[in-house]
Amino acid sequence: MENILLLAHTEADGTLAKPALESLAAALALGGKVTVGLVGGETAAAANQIAGSGAVRFLAVTGEAFAQARYATDAAAAEALAKTSGAAIVLAPATSRWSRALPGVALRLGGRVDTHATSLAITNGVPAVTRWFYRQRMEAVLTRSQRPWIVLLDSGCVPTWTGPAGAAQAEAVAVEAPTRTTVTGTREPKAGEQTIRPDAKLLFVAGAGWTKKQADGAVHGADAESLILGFLRASKASLGGSKSLVDMGGEGEAVLRCMTHLNQIGQTGSTPRHDKGLSTCCHGEEPHVVGWRFITQRRAINLDANCGWARGKADVLYVADAFAVMRRVNELMELRA
Ligand SMILES: Cc1cc2nc3c(=O)[nH]c(=O)nc-3n(C[C@H](O)[C@H](O)[C@H](O)COP(=O)(O)OP(=O)(O)OC[C@H]3O[C@@H](n4cnc5c(N)ncnc54)[C@H](O)[C@@H]3O)c2cc1C
Repeated sequence: MENILLLAHTEADGTLAKPALESLAAALALGGKVTVGLVGGETAAAANQIAGSGAVRFLAVTGEAFAQARYATDAAAAEALAKTSGAAIVLAPATSRWSRALPGVALRLGGRVDTHATSLAITNGVPAVTRWFYRQRMEAVLTRSQRPWIVLLDSGCVPTWTGPAGAAQAEAVAVEAPTRTTVTGTREPKAGEQTIRPDAKLLFVAGAGWTKKQADGAVHGADAESLILGFLRASKASLGGSKSLVDMGGEGEAVLRCMTHLNQIGQTGSTPRHDKGLSTCCHGEEPHVVGWRFITQRRAINLDANCGWARGKADVLYVADAFAVMRRVNELMELRA
């Protein structure tokens, strides 16, 4: 088996997050010699965190310039680590930071890159990547002869590496990375609260029904928002939305202020990976449900017994008023808290 470099950047607290530990597990499972390449403001804690992984070598690009996500510095660090390791295969988690920097690094190294991989494993004796095409409708298995081969592994596809921490001494790799880019701050989407939580066990989807006239002939937008936010705060679920709902918000209508286009699930939205999903006031049309491909258990609440979810798309459909159901669920969760 060829040599492998696992690239990982540290988080604000200096440790490695779940996506990095998933990629580490995938790298180790290939069976070759694994070198770990760390990038960050501080890297010692991260090296110690995975000291017991069996990696043969630890390399680190450390310093204030590498604490911040920035193309110029991240690409320079990754290039230096790839050259120092001499690895034929470079595996990295598909974080926004690496997804931005590594395609350019592949060009600099004269290699190739594959993004959105869902696995990298030995198939017919050679390393092969799996990834989905056409909005998750077809799965392909790819091999490449070019090296170095950089692979960005999507999060949620591989169990995380777990093992003993210890003391690992990383070799420092010096990188000159002059940059004219200074990060002056971050601007967040208009939602006042972080509602997208890729690591949550549950995906809670709100559809346009929350903004429609209800049985009493009135719209209950404020009620809808407080029920949804109350549930999210108690359950720590991630919030998704149907296209109809997020489009209304984009037009400036006073709908759910916690919802932006970033929450949209579906063909023209995202395809998240959560163990469970609960759809509320959402019809369950095909362009929406295609975004549920990787949700293992699907449930929906809809007043309409003939909605899209009823046609084999949900494991359980509650034919009920989502306002009433979520109010009761929130009460029960409050009692348990
Ligand atoms: C090219 C293309 C791409 C698209 N991409 C996407 C995509 O990425 N994502 C996406 O979501 N859509 C997408 N769509 C749109 C999709 O086809 C649907 O129009 C959309 O998903 C409908 O949203 P909805 O179910 O929230 O709204 P509606 O169709 O209006 O459904 C609202 C539902 O709420 C229910 N309801 C109302 N009140 C209550 C209540 N009190 N309790 C319970 N249920 C209630 C109603 O019975 C109804 O079923 C796409 C369409 C096209 C053509």
